[in-house]
Amino acid sequence: MRILLFLLLMSGLTYQTQGQEMYDLHPCGTVLGRSPWLINYQANPHLFARRTGETLYVPLTIHIVGNNDGSNFYREQNLVQALCTLNADFAPSGIQFYVSGQIRYIRSTEYSSHSTIHKGAEMMFKYNVPNTINTYFVGNASSFCGYNLPYAGIAISQNCAKPSDHTWAHEIGHHFAIPHPFLGWEGGVSWNGSVAHNYNNPAPEKVLYDYTLFKNEYYPDTLIIDTAWVERLDGSNCAFAADGFCDTHPDYLYQRWQCSTARRSNTVQTDPAGEKFSSDASLIMSYAFDQCSAVFTPQQMDAMRAYLTDVRYYYLGDYTPPAAPSTETIRYLRPAENSTVFFRNVTLEWEPVENATAYLIQISTSQNFGIILADTIVYEHQATFESLRNNTTLHWRVKPLNSYHSCTDFSGRSFFSTSSVSHTKETDLQYSFSVYPTLVHNNTPVRVSNRSGKAASVQVSDMYGRQLYTTDYGDENLILDCKDWMNGMYILRVEQQGWSQSFKILIAR
Ligand SMILES: [Zn+2]
Repeated sequence: MRILLFLLLMSGLTYQTQGQEMYDLHPCGTVLGRSPWLINYQANPHLFARRTGETLYVPLTIHIVGNNDGSNFYREQNLVQALCTLNADFAPSGIQFYVSGQIRYIRSTEYSSHSTIHKGAEMMFKYNVPNTINTYFVGNASSFCGYNLPYAGIAISQNCAKPSDHTWAHEIGHHFAIPHPFLGWEGGVSWNGSVAHNYNNPAPEKVLYDYTLFKNEYYPDTLIIDTAWVERLDGSNCAFAADGFCDTHPDYLYQRWQCSTARRSNTVQTDPAGEKFSSDASLIMSYAFDQCSAVFTPQQMDAMRAYLTDVRYYYLGDYTPPAAPSTETIRYLRPAENSTVFFRNVTLEWEPVENATAYLIQISTSQNFGIILADTIVYEHQATFESLRNNTTLHWRVKPLNSYHSCTDFSGRSFFSTSSVSHTKETDLQYSFSVYPTLVHNNTPVRVSNRSGKAASVQVSDMYGRQLYTTDYGDENLILDCKDWMNGMYILRVEQQGWSQSFKILIAR
């Protein structure tokens, strides 16, 4: 596995731009009407199967779209956490998502910052993988946080895909036929935002909206305008007004809004009968800020399960989630901890983790991983970086993952330094041996792994240079029982064919 330099470039760039751009993006480009299916379902929900009581597993294809020069790719650390948030958001509904296949990377400035939804549709038609939900993480999704094209897939701007954002859940809600609770208001009271509305005045009975691009098929050159009934506070028209769900209450707020501590809107609105109300900020399908929203309503969840079973049944294959990756601390094999390596073509290797099929690797200049030079997902227990920052101490750590489990923690860490001096032979030797653990808190034996395929000798001495232990051994691993060793620092020296390498072991019980 060879990691290109562009991965190192990209992480710093996205860091600097996060936060600010989010406020320039419109919340969601999806103007999803009540589909004929949803109208039919809401009239007779009991006629639809929901496969109640069983978890429905849905496959995702992840596309990360960056610029031609390799910059502006979505950070994979964020992706891993966004997946974790997505499954948490959907857990109450019994719908869960898993990553199908490997993550796909698209180098295309044209698609990464696309200015129209038509361009996004073109990208999806070109790259979609059938029978999965295709999600494209881009630099800028037509100036929206995200949108869902029912016939194609989902695009999300990377600044709205931070670890605790709910944009992904919101767009998948649309993908499962759920409209906004303020359906019809997407362009204000008129379909194109041309009519001003004062929320102190009673709302009209009906509003107009343009949902041209969000029908079940692609209509590139037709304008489709529809009307929606405005929902009243007394619930009298909730079954057909706005989204048609009676457990989502009136909401006319079509721009991003901040919530009160009680998770309500600060803007008071007036329904057509003159009744005043504030909106529910807890709904993922509303435009409340991400820290306000957290839930789908029971009726929305029922409808999503029914839609998945009835219409998007082709997502529901024969998937059984794998067990979670082992939480045992990972052993970092090479570069040996605290060693110095040539800064080019550096291979990082660790022992495979049970039940892991992928790993997120992070490299940082600091022990607390505050500044990340690289984070990337690989599918082997090693990765080669073409070029790392020279003359630097680099800390690295690994998070084991599989298709379903992404909420795992990083496991252990190691560090090494880079230099422009190439010590080919010493480097070969140090790649061949590893010692674990080097910090002993209990009576765990210390293991010296020898992957050179040749015999070596090992000596252990204390800080005063007194030799405690010496042995020759073959190409197997050596287990050192150190329970009789006193607390303190020891030096373990491996020798092979005239070369040697030292490791520090600290006993601190
Ligand atoms: Zn939306």
